[in-house]
Amino acid sequence: MNNISKTMQILGKKYPRSTTTLNTMRGNSTPFEILISCLLSLRARDEVTDVISKDLFSIANTPEKIVAMSDKELKKIIFKSGHFNKKAEILKSVSRELIKRFDSKVPDDYDNLISIKGVGPKTANIVLAFAYGKMVLPIDVHCHRIPNRLGWIKTKTPEETEKVLEKILPKKYWKEFNSAFVQFGREICLPISPKCSECLVNKYCKRVGVVKSR
Ligand code: SF4
Repeated sequence: MNNISKTMQILGKKYPRSTTTLNTMRGNSTPFEILISCLLSLRARDEVTDVISKDLFSIANTPEKIVAMSDKELKKIIFKSGHFNKKAEILKSVSRELIKRFDSKVPDDYDNLISIKGVGPKTANIVLAFAYGKMVLPIDVHCHRIPNRLGWIKTKTPEETEKVLEKILPKKYWKEFNSAFVQFGREICLPISPKCSECLVNKYCKRVGVVKSR
């Protein structure tokens, strides 16, 4: 068994059920709710996204309802997620586009998703994986940073990471990869000063680019 499989087995066992907001929404939320939560989660803490998403969906959980809200009301609800002016604008424009171009439905294919202004590759892949159960690899900052540190890949951007991981990560690990790496990145393999001494996979890690650790 190579280092990738060994690492995935250890992390998959350690983080068997994801507690991240978007993962807990799998199977329990509509594709629209998953898309909106993903847009709200950008640069926001998970606990905050969780609360804001629930507050928002209790009032507006369809594109029509978001469009019908006043800007003031929408901003008041999403205020704590940070960058609330920009996010309110995106939530409204995405909702309008869904109504106009997709009969109010969230598309289930990558090309249509990224054709919506404000929806990037990471958001598109999260929607495909979490809302539609498709075999894709949603890559966020943790999923980009950690495989580079481990020495699996040598990439500069999350987009590049996605392409390389698609080739080297066995498909049987795709479903758990995002949730395991997000939690691992928040608890142990932190962006600054990772906790290498506590790390369960340190013997398989090349620690590329790690200058200071705990
Ligand atoms: S050994 Fe350190 S750098 Fe490597 S995966 Fe573990 S925490 Fe991250």
